[in-house]
Amino acid sequence: MDRVLAVARPAFDAASVVDIARRTFDVDAAAARDLGSERDQTFLLLDDDDAPLAVLKLSNAAEDPATLDMEALAVLHAQRVDPSLPLAIPWLVPGAHRDSGDPADRRVAIDAADGRHHIRTYPNLPGHDRIDAITLSDAALAGWGAMAARVGRALRGFFHPAAQRTMLWDVQHAGRTRELLEAIRDQRHRALVEAVLDRFDAAVVPVLPTLRAQVIHTDLTTDNALADDDGNVSGIVDFGDMSYSPLIVDLASLLDSLLNDRIDDELFRTARLVISGYETITPLEPVELRLLPDLVAARAAVTIAISSWRSGQGFEDATFAERYNGPVARTIETLLDVGWDEAARRFGATVERPSRGLAVRREAVIGPAMEPLTYDDPIHVVAASGAWMTGADGRRYLDAYNNVPCVGHGHPRVTEAIARQSRLVNTNMRYLYESAIELAERLIATMPPAAGLDTVMFVNSGSEANDMAWRLATTFTGNRGALCTAFAYHGVTDATAALSPESWQAVRPPDHVETWEPPDRLRELHVNGKPFADAVARLATRGYAPAATILDGVLTSDGYLEPGQALAGEWLDATHAAGALWIADEVQGGHGRTGHHMWSFQHLGLLPDVVTIGKPMGNGHPVGAVVTRREIAARFGDETVFFSTFGGNPVSAVAALAVLDVLDDERVLARVVRVGDALRAAIREVVRPYPAVIDVRGVGLAIGVEVADRATAAAIKEGLRERGVLIGTAGREGNVLKVRPPLAFSDADIPVFVDALASTLGSIAAR
Ligand code: PMP
Repeated sequence: MDRVLAVARPAFDAASVVDIARRTFDVDAAAARDLGSERDQTFLLLDDDDAPLAVLKLSNAAEDPATLDMEALAVLHAQRVDPSLPLAIPWLVPGAHRDSGDPADRRVAIDAADGRHHIRTYPNLPGHDRIDAITLSDAALAGWGAMAARVGRALRGFFHPAAQRTMLWDVQHAGRTRELLEAIRDQRHRALVEAVLDRFDAAVVPVLPTLRAQVIHTDLTTDNALADDDGNVSGIVDFGDMSYSPLIVDLASLLDSLLNDRIDDELFRTARLVISGYETITPLEPVELRLLPDLVAARAAVTIAISSWRSGQGFEDATFAERYNGPVARTIETLLDVGWDEAARRFGATVERPSRGLAVRREAVIGPAMEPLTYDDPIHVVAASGAWMTGADGRRYLDAYNNVPCVGHGHPRVTEAIARQSRLVNTNMRYLYESAIELAERLIATMPPAAGLDTVMFVNSGSEANDMAWRLATTFTGNRGALCTAFAYHGVTDATAALSPESWQAVRPPDHVETWEPPDRLRELHVNGKPFADAVARLATRGYAPAATILDGVLTSDGYLEPGQALAGEWLDATHAAGALWIADEVQGGHGRTGHHMWSFQHLGLLPDVVTIGKPMGNGHPVGAVVTRREIAARFGDETVFFSTFGGNPVSAVAALAVLDVLDDERVLARVVRVGDALRAAIREVVRPYPAVIDVRGVGLAIGVEVADRATAAAIKEGLRERGVLIGTAGREGNVLKVRPPLAFSDADIPVFVDALASTLGSIAAR
């Protein structure tokens, strides 16, 4: 333990302090008023009119001058970094050079009977001292949080060997106060401190070495700050407890002080205000936020233990030393009452609860129109990374279903881009900013030049992109009819639901839409251009000329059927011949899903008029786009104007740019080809003994496995889930396994997938 804590404070009287002030720092004071201090003596020097002249501090005889020099160097450093921080900078001794960088020039030693004391003098900072935290307004609380973060930031690059010390007030050493438990006379307080220290040993100590650490103040409290009439910090004093410690310790100490006398909900509300103030300057890492209630409690425990011990030893007056013990004990009680997880949640940390009852709550509030949860035993997801998802029970699942997290769940390039841009600004395309323009340029550059796709409109989803494409097509062609595949899905809006036979269900097919059957190569059905031509003819009989044909280039909902280039080309030509535009819906097949190309229409050898993009574009962040030719957008612009509030916002744009970057940097498309081929081959291998499996098809990581019937597909999907692998089903008959993993799916995941599939098929066959 730092030995300064194991001694009483010096005992100079006011008259000798006036004399010392004159002798050491040339201050001609009429009086000196004791400001109270734990182990030093601090006096306000006053002139004849009782006006403050300066603050004089007499250090404890046990104080190491190296520590005092560290303090001086630290505040000078912090002041250089953040000149508007209201820090108390020790005066230079009379006669020292004004540019002196020697910290020893800011103290004078005097010898007394109990040893050597160092004298330092500070400017009297404006403001009220020892303010009562309960009086602080919400705005002031946030300001105190921000100030704590600024102090931490200003000290970030500072170091001094004396910072490596074991100062008991520093919460990282809370465990050491266990030795002081006996000194806590109040039995209730002692039990609280013991409970907190037990928790500290179990939950905090193992994590402490992983926290970001630096030299910090360690004792940011209302005792060591001054505040103006509005409660805003106007001065920060007393760097005497500085240590090399986890950064979060400063916020814990500050909270411990500011939460005094705030109880129940008000305690948590106050904490959140202070934390959000802190995070305006320095965002907390998840682990820091998670540990914050523990550290606040530990600081409270340390307060009770040290003050009880010091007053018991006669080093301090008990009333002064133990004045906070009642309030901080109540803080501990509140935290213990709600429990550590719940406290962290109420501080703002993400702490998932066990999922019991969640499905019932979902049913109650989400309503009957919503698609039901997938799986008989739904998965409560709490985290994911790459191609793996984690349930609330800690179980991990190989994700072979979700195409949205295209470059992998939680890819740091995307998440950090989103977080960074959110902190800077998020706004809309009425203003100029780089990201949306760069994104448009880069999307255009991915399109085949021959298509002339040179204009981008940003929206927020695949549905919106298709809705917009539909409006572009009808305005450009003047036609009202539409063509889509027999079991297509293109969106949730009025216009796109009409283009989605998969979701028509009981609804009468819309009059202006015709469907055509894509080819079933296995059974040699619909393999020529006739079904498409017939669909155009049927539209005509109802008086509609087509405005557009829309096609998902990997035919997901139809069950990953494969048209091939020749037939797709026939459809495109027939579309144009009928006066319609071709809309390439890349919501499923885009962003490298086929591996061979960025866009699935390229895989089909098509040159579309409009391209729509969604799902994988932001790796989970909602963003969509329409890419078309200028003449098509211009015709729309002649009739109306396009603006989408969120479309192309900077946060979405940087997310989408990060996805494009990762696709390039990690050479994702080449991997998709390799892993996709290997996965299909491995699936073919394991399904061979099972006649229920009819076909394995698809391109890249858009893989369809056709099985006997809907019930078999459903059973396989459930069986895989039980074995920790997630897939979906597709096709009009619901008999196609939809294997459509994040593109982060890797070679190492293939055996996991096929082993689970083999085991599932085996157990189904054995039934
Ligand atoms: N087009 C296709 C091919 C889709 O698969 C989907 C979504 N399943 C959409 C459009 C609609 O996208 P969103 O759900 O983002 O509106």
